[in-house]
Amino acid sequence: MVVFACAECGAVMTARVARVALPDHSGQKYGHDLLAHLLRPGTYAVDPGNGRPWQPFEPEPEEHGVRLLTYRITGPSNRIAIAPGDVRGTVFIPERLGGCCCGWDGQYGPNLACAKCGCPVATRVDDCGFWQVVWLQPDAVRPVAVAVALAHLLVISAGRRVAVPEGPVAAAFRRAIDSLLPTGPPERQLVLAGPGLSPTITDIALVPKHPQTGEVWPGAAGTVVPLAADVWTYMAFNDDRRLMPAARGMPAGVRRDDPPPLLPHTLFRPDGRVFLSTLERLAPVPQPWLRRIFDLVRDRPYMDPFS
Ligand SMILES: [Zn+2]
Ligand SMILES: [Zn+2]
Repeated sequence: MVVFACAECGAVMTARVARVALPDHSGQKYGHDLLAHLLRPGTYAVDPGNGRPWQPFEPEPEEHGVRLLTYRITGPSNRIAIAPGDVRGTVFIPERLGGCCCGWDGQYGPNLACAKCGCPVATRVDDCGFWQVVWLQPDAVRPVAVAVALAHLLVISAGRRVAVPEGPVAAAFRRAIDSLLPTGPPERQLVLAGPGLSPTITDIALVPKHPQTGEVWPGAAGTVVPLAADVWTYMAFNDDRRLMPAARGMPAGVRRDDPPPLLPHTLFRPDGRVFLSTLERLAPVPQPWLRRIFDLVRDRPYMDPFS
């Protein structure tokens, strides 16, 4: 499960959603009635698209006194479909609201902006003949999923320094550890562990949660910190190569990944509110050192590295 947040200001943009396959009928336009939602609540899907970015609306020149209006309803690659009811904290962009008939079809580009910072983030489509959906702009949002893991890590740390390996784990957690835990030589070590990784002796294992059941990966010995499966997969296996969909003629043996995976636009940043509510759940009666961290983040919810 992930929550998408505004890439510009960090405001939460969606409810918690789980990835599902993009319905085959997502590009369908049918009849003149209002259609149902493209996706069930609580889910999202990624549309690999046709590789062409938004084509701005351009009326054809007037000919014989008749103006032919043409438009193409398309969007950027890897746009994210979500049920309209799962969207949070957006406002309409009035000049982008356009449609054919009974609602909006997104022909002028993103028509929803982040309510906090005003950046265009998504496109609401609900005109007749279209499956109702909100398309999140892939560059305008990012998944937020590390705050819960950070709260687990803090409780496990018992208020003492934790070392993290270089790479994506350090990028996600080290700044939080630096700002919340005391300095000094680390006493414990956080290491990625899970399916597909070679087993190592770990002190604190950062392991994935099953994407459907939420069950924590059971293979690690010692203390575990559970992490959302899609974030864990990125940290464990992403090598920063940008993959392109290949149309034809790809030789055997070439690495295949089509459509390209959904990659984060910026560093993973823990969400302050999610972090605080998880701490309250994990440690209802906190020790004084943990209470101090709770109060610090509550009083300064956007302190680095929180969002
Ligand atoms: Zn209509
Ligand atoms: Zn924003």
